[in-house]
Amino acid sequence: MTSLMINHPINFMASSVIRTLSQSQRMQLPMLRPTRMHALSIKSDLEIMRQQMVVVDDDESYAMKGGEGPHSYAKNSIIQKGLIDGSKRLIQEAISQSFDPKEHIHGNDESSTPICIADLGCSTGPNTFFAMQTITEAIQLQFQSHGLASQIPDIQVLFNDQVSNDFNTLFKNLPQQRIYYATAVPGSFCGRLFPKQTLHLVHSSAALCWLSKLPNEITDSDSSACNKGRIHYTDAPKEVADAYATQYRKDMGNFLHARAQELVGNGLMLLQFPVSNVVLDSDVDPAKVFELIGTCLVDMAKVGVISEEKVDSFNVPLIYPSVKAVKEILRGCDECFSIEWMEILEFKNMVSLPTVQIFVSWFRAALQGMIEKHFGAEIVDELFERFAEKVKEFPDIMDKDKLKLDVLFVLLRRKNKFSTSNSLVPLNICHKMYKT
Ligand code: SAH
Repeated sequence: MTSLMINHPINFMASSVIRTLSQSQRMQLPMLRPTRMHALSIKSDLEIMRQQMVVVDDDESYAMKGGEGPHSYAKNSIIQKGLIDGSKRLIQEAISQSFDPKEHIHGNDESSTPICIADLGCSTGPNTFFAMQTITEAIQLQFQSHGLASQIPDIQVLFNDQVSNDFNTLFKNLPQQRIYYATAVPGSFCGRLFPKQTLHLVHSSAALCWLSKLPNEITDSDSSACNKGRIHYTDAPKEVADAYATQYRKDMGNFLHARAQELVGNGLMLLQFPVSNVVLDSDVDPAKVFELIGTCLVDMAKVGVISEEKVDSFNVPLIYPSVKAVKEILRGCDECFSIEWMEILEFKNMVSLPTVQIFVSWFRAALQGMIEKHFGAEIVDELFERFAEKVKEFPDIMDKDKLKLDVLFVLLRRKNKFSTSNSLVPLNICHKMYKT
């Protein structure tokens, strides 16, 4: 595998390794002057490597609004920051209990390999910087408390998000005082992103709630799961919710499968994402929010700003799974991961009461990319002006005490047993468990 490592704290790794491999291979072929047999064997080697990479190319999820303008994610992610602040103590405790600094000391300081940490779904910052600071400082403290302060290896943070993420804004704002080297790794975390057994710690906050794609049946007018006139499963019939749930299980299965190969034995994974333990319906937030945005779109279709067909085919790929569903998925992967810690945090304790403007901007920063792609950029201002008016009509949707969401904090450990086969995680098991 080839990767471009520039001798600078900011390194860029090739995103689609498949593409890099085939390009470099193409460049080498004329020099090798291969015989036909030789060429065939190179081709089959490449085919094997290609199969092993499992890079996801058909991911349809969208990055958050880039830049640092008034509608950007960077300026409108205070609610996601609440998750990172709320789990800071747990992250520190998890590292102090589960991260063994002795595993990173190899006697000879010169040859020590870096500690590699990946933040999956990092967006443009600044939240990822707070999370990485908490993690790297907790690791540093572990070395100090074991009397190994002088032997801390270099720390490398691999910032991952979709290819369309604004990595320039992320790197422009990298903290000056950081104790890590920074690398960008663009691509979907539902597929392989890193070489085998190279990660020591994976973190992901507020990202595993995004589906990699919308289930086909929700826009198929012949299907009972067709979600006409609505934009989300929470205010829709059960068939729509089931279709979202099936896609979620696939995505989580692929996510765990990829990380099982990339994490070293005993490597840790700290995940946090919103969950809901009640059936969400239109009476409660967050379902009400999607109902209101959907109504704004329907109103805009009625006055001819957008077409009805466009509204019918628009859906938001966001899911709030139940804790039970998450546990079942994780249990299906227990050959590779042990669940070390699982805690439900109350979302309402992690956020402060927003104003209408903050509330609307929060959704705008998250949804703008997909709305522009589907309807065109020209409708965005009007849509969110209409949404703001609706929020004023139903101020209860901002009442965090009524919000039927929690946050699940999970600490997983990669079991210290590796198979040489590519299918380390029994993906079939992950998927099979949910077949009804
Ligand atoms: N972790 C950050 C950002 C959360 S927003 C924070 O706490 O503020 C969710 C991020 O996950 C978005 O930037 C989105 O682009 C990213 N994301 C969603 N699905 C993804 C996928 N399949 N692969 C990579 N990134 C993804």
